[in-house]
Parts: sequence; structure tokens; C-alpha cells
Amino acid sequence: MKNVVLLGSTGSIGASTIKVAEDLQDRIRLVGLAAGNNAELLLEQARRFRPIAISINDPNKARALQSALGSLCQVFSGQEGLIRLATLPAAHIVLIAIVGTAGLQPALAAIRAGKDIAIASKEILVMAGEIVMSEARKHGVRVLAVDSEHSAVFQCIDGRPIDSVKKIWLTASGGPFRTTPKEEFANITVERALQHPCWVMGRKITIDSATLFNKGLEMIEARWLFDIGIDRVDVLVHPQSVVHSLVEFVDGSILAQLSTPDMCLPIQFALTYPERVPSTRVQTDLAKLGCLTFEQPDLERFPSLILARRAGETGGTLPAVLNAANEVAVEAFLQERISFLQITDIVRIVMARHEVTQHPTLEQILSADAWARAEATRLIEERRFT
Ligand code: NDP
Repeated sequence: MKNVVLLGSTGSIGASTIKVAEDLQDRIRLVGLAAGNNAELLLEQARRFRPIAISINDPNKARALQSALGSLCQVFSGQEGLIRLATLPAAHIVLIAIVGTAGLQPALAAIRAGKDIAIASKEILVMAGEIVMSEARKHGVRVLAVDSEHSAVFQCIDGRPIDSVKKIWLTASGGPFRTTPKEEFANITVERALQHPCWVMGRKITIDSATLFNKGLEMIEARWLFDIGIDRVDVLVHPQSVVHSLVEFVDGSILAQLSTPDMCLPIQFALTYPERVPSTRVQTDLAKLGCLTFEQPDLERFPSLILARRAGETGGTLPAVLNAANEVAVEAFLQERISFLQITDIVRIVMARHEVTQHPTLEQILSADAWARAEATRLIEERRFT
């Protein structure tokens, strides 16, 4: 039986994790659940799964939940609540699926408490990959990927030395604007950007999939997860989203992992690793699919990939700055305060203004993150996009 703490239980990854826990009731026990705002859903989940503890951002909501649940489980709140859950003595593994940067400190706390972590929140490795991976090595814990691409890469490498890998190819669906001409990018609406062709996900990651910043963040994530130079990480557009990623080895052989797109599969793989557990949830009929296609990403229409590569190559605090500026810009786009194209403009300007600190401490990363947020906010308020 694996005791799992799920941070972000009310989100899209949270919902898929809950399906996996329901499928594998004899193997997975949800001992901790954390949400941001959705107290109603968290209450329902707590009543259904009877975890040891839960947490919600707002202390007032936490008090209301505690009185509704009585002695059924303990209720915590805020960042401290997330850390309490991440270090719960009964937990074996902590799955972090919180959108944004709030998952970073709980991830480090879990590692330091000797827990394996399963990471959906790519922001954690983008911001602090060097620190997280070195802490994980120091404490002898596993960092497992929940992102379908990185799960695929992990399965293809399958313990071989990283020297045997020539290139990691992360596949990208290409998002809703894969074939949209550049002239039309200026007219992209929030509604259109939220219509992803293959995946149903949270709003932030759906916009990142439309700009391809999501793939850029994943390149940096892969660099840290697999301890590989970003020059050996590349992107291949694959509209069907069936090949989740590929690994090209030094002998010229390429291995890939395939399945119908469904986040339950990489989640189950991470939570049951190193075993492979039977499941009928994901069925893949290749004959029915007929053909799988691949193409190069268009860097002119999707310059986010250039910015992410630059951030990954430069390293230090620059990836945290890219991530923070993008988060602010995506939020402004969702609020219809800036256009789709201005998301990339904001990130480019904030990155260019940043003085990079190499091998930063956690404090320096958090301060670069705060600086980038303030800078991006100011640019948006002053409407300066060049
Ligand atoms: P959602 O927006 O659907 O869910 C986000 C979750 O985070 C919600 O449960 C939300 O709670 C919770 N949350 C937000 N802020 C806090 C906080 N301060 N404290 C506690 N919980 C908080 O996002 P997704 O599930 O789509 O994505 C989550 C992460 O996983 C992201 O980093 C994303 O990039 C990554 N990811 C997602 C994939 C997907 O298919 N969705 C695929 C691969 C990676 P509430 O709703 O209660 O406010």
C-alpha cells in the first residue's frame, strides 16, 4: 500500500489522480489532500477518502472545514499547511500538482523528510532544478515525473546511463494555433486559446500550450530531471499526442512511449513505480489511429521556444524569471488586459532586463521570481511591450 499526499487535489491533475486512486484502492491510499480555494470539493474528497490531514489556502475556510469534519481529519491552512502535509509521517510519496510556484517549498520539505516526490508542477524544476535534484540525491529520494513527456522519457531511458542518450525529443501537440498563419496571431482571443485540441487541462497550462511556453518549460524540466545539457533536449511537433516523447540513443536507435492521451497513465506509473500495475483505463488502438505525423516547430510563430532555450542555456536565476514573467503575462491575457502576442513580448523584455545570478540559493531564486513578477506587472500597467 502506497500512502500518497496529493497537493492540488481539486485541479485537473488532482481529478486524474483521484481516478487512479479509485482504480487502485488496494494499492493507493490518499493520506493528505490540499486545495487552493475550492473548499466544497475538498470537503467532499475528505469525506470520501478519509485522509489523515487536509489543507486549504485560506485559514477561515480551514476553520469551517475543521468544524464540518470534526475528528475525521486534521485541517491545516496556507503554505504552512502544505508543508505539514508534505512531511506527514505516514506519507510515502507526495504528488505536487499545484499551479504556480506554491509547490516549491513543500517539494523541498518532502524531500528533506525522506519522501519520494512526483512532480506535475513543472515550475518547481524550472525555478530550482539544481537545488531540488541535489537535495533529492542527498536524501536518497526519487523525483518522479508526472508530465506525460517526462514520464515517457524516463520509461525510454529505463535506467541507462545518460551518456548513452544523444537527444531527448519532447513531443508537442502544437496547440490550437499549430497551423494558424502568423498574421492572425494578433487576433487570437482567450476563448480560442483555451480550446486545446488534445488535452483538457487547467487554464494556465492550456494557454502555455497555445504559446508553446509549456514545451519551453518542459525543456528546462527535462534538463534537470535527466541531468542532461539543454543542447541535447529538443522539441518535435506531433499533433496526435500519442507518442509522448522519444529518446534518441548514441547508436542511432530511437525509443518512444505511446498511448492514447490520458494523464491517468503517467500518474499511475509515478505512483506505482517501479511496478507496472494492470489497468484498463487507457486503451490505444494504433490501427484505428492509422497514422502518426511529426514536424519541426515553427520558431518564428512560437518564439517562446527560443526564449526558453536561452533561459535553459544561461541557467542561474533566468529560468525562474522566465517562469514568473510568463505567469503574470498569462494571467493578464486571461483577464483580457494584454493580447496573445504580448505574452511573449513581456517575457522577452523581463528576461533581457534581468541580471542573472549563477548557482542561486533558494532565497535568490525567490527574490528573482518576485522581481520578475513586479517587472512584468509594471510593463503591463505601463503598456510597454517593446
Ligand atoms: P488546475 O488549475 O486545474 O489546478 C491547480 C490546483 O492547484 C488546484 O487544485 C488548486 O486549488 C491548487 N492550488 C492553487 N494554488 C494553491 C495554493 N496556494 N495552495 C494549495 N493549492 C493550490 O491545474 P492543473 O491540474 O492543470 O495543473 C497543475 C500543475 O500540473 C501545473 O503546474 C501544470 O503545469 C502541471 N501539469 C498539468 C497537466 C494537465 O494535464 N493538467 C499536465 C502536466 C503538468 P483550487 O482549485 O481549490 O483553487
